[in-house]
Amino acid sequence: MKLLVIGSGGREHSLVWKLAQSPLASGIWCAPGNAGIAEERLARNGEAVQCVNIGAEDLPRLLALAQERRVDLTVVGPDNPLALGIVDLFQQHGLRIWGPNRKAAQFEASKAFSQAFMERHGIPTAHSGAFSQPGPAKAFAASLGGPCAVKADGLALGKGVLICATLAEAEKAIDEILVRKTFGAAGGQLVIQEFLKGTEVSLHALCDGKTAKLFPTSQDHKRALDGDQGLNTGGMGTFSPTPFLSQTGLAEARRSILEPWLRGCAAEAIDYHGILYPGLMLTAAGPKVLEFNARFGDPETQVYLTRLRNDLVELLQASVDGTLDKIELKWSPVVAVCVVMASGGYPGGYAKGKPISGLEKAAQLPDTKVFHAGTARAGDRIVTNGGRVLGVTAWAPDLSAARAAAYAAVDAIHFDGAQFRLDIGAKGLERGA
Ligand code: AMP
Repeated sequence: MKLLVIGSGGREHSLVWKLAQSPLASGIWCAPGNAGIAEERLARNGEAVQCVNIGAEDLPRLLALAQERRVDLTVVGPDNPLALGIVDLFQQHGLRIWGPNRKAAQFEASKAFSQAFMERHGIPTAHSGAFSQPGPAKAFAASLGGPCAVKADGLALGKGVLICATLAEAEKAIDEILVRKTFGAAGGQLVIQEFLKGTEVSLHALCDGKTAKLFPTSQDHKRALDGDQGLNTGGMGTFSPTPFLSQTGLAEARRSILEPWLRGCAAEAIDYHGILYPGLMLTAAGPKVLEFNARFGDPETQVYLTRLRNDLVELLQASVDGTLDKIELKWSPVVAVCVVMASGGYPGGYAKGKPISGLEKAAQLPDTKVFHAGTARAGDRIVTNGGRVLGVTAWAPDLSAARAAAYAAVDAIHFDGAQFRLDIGAKGLERGA
């Protein structure tokens, strides 16, 4: 089978790496890809994965590429092309593509849509309201009496969520989104949620329109600095599984969140094929949904796919075809840890083009895989080309050994200004102990 993967981050490198291991994959293209993706080879025939310089949002050129190369299955990594309707477009042209269509992708593309859906179907979430005018928004924020989360409705590169400690901060955030239009069209509307206290976990479920198969738990580390300090980022590291949600807790999340979500989709004719990735807060009153994402998490994918034992081509085909009920997900019983190495200054401004050394040394370490995100090739060197540069991932029988292995690989790699957290998985160790 010929495959096309869309995207250029660490998530897409892990998808390509795992797809390339499948005996079913005879050719893989990635648009636009990165320097690490371009080094992958297919297990079946030793052929190199080919990166094609087409942006993930350039739908007409992506369609032309898939047609020209006679691609059998396209796999969409990021949220933007899904929200733009890439799945609908490819299907209209008779092409097989994995990911939710535009209507289904609204779970991520519109927080107001998701919030209203959860209310209609009794899915536990924060008490909330959706507003397009500052006056009523401020009155609602006042009714919450202080701490709250003010969120731009649409996709805002992960920056549209403002956590407010006081009403004054909430009023400022509301003006920022609705009046100053800091997030552009994504902020035509906003959602205000009560502030929820608890431990955050990510869930992933692979869906095929009828069935949803839940993955093990993982935890992201969103803040830039150790001890959850500093600015919010795309994610600085993950580990899986986590000790925060027991098997009973996971079963409870399935019963209270996933099952009503599936029933709601059926009732509203939402044909969801792809990953549903809810961000949860484990509160004293049980798990509550903070938001839904309509694609694999980054860097959650890096830890999930190093643990997944199934053939990913088979799984994604079953997700497209509606035959997931016939497949059992199999996970390696190891713990995987991914430490993100970012450019100095991220998530603010940062320089690009810094040469990266030590990648060959890290590649020789056992049970370790360095996934590339913001990297590019410059002559015979690999250089930094984005905020998050590498997702250094290692797996071992326990969390402590997996952390040690991931940080040993981080120590082998150097680039000017490299910035990473030293406490990825540390809370898991504390809890485990
Ligand atoms: P979101 O993109 O909606 O998941 O929000 C980004 C981050 O903001 C989450 O990962 C949480 O850390 C935090 N957050 C969002 N909503 C809330 C809430 N209602 N209460 C507390 N923290 C929140």
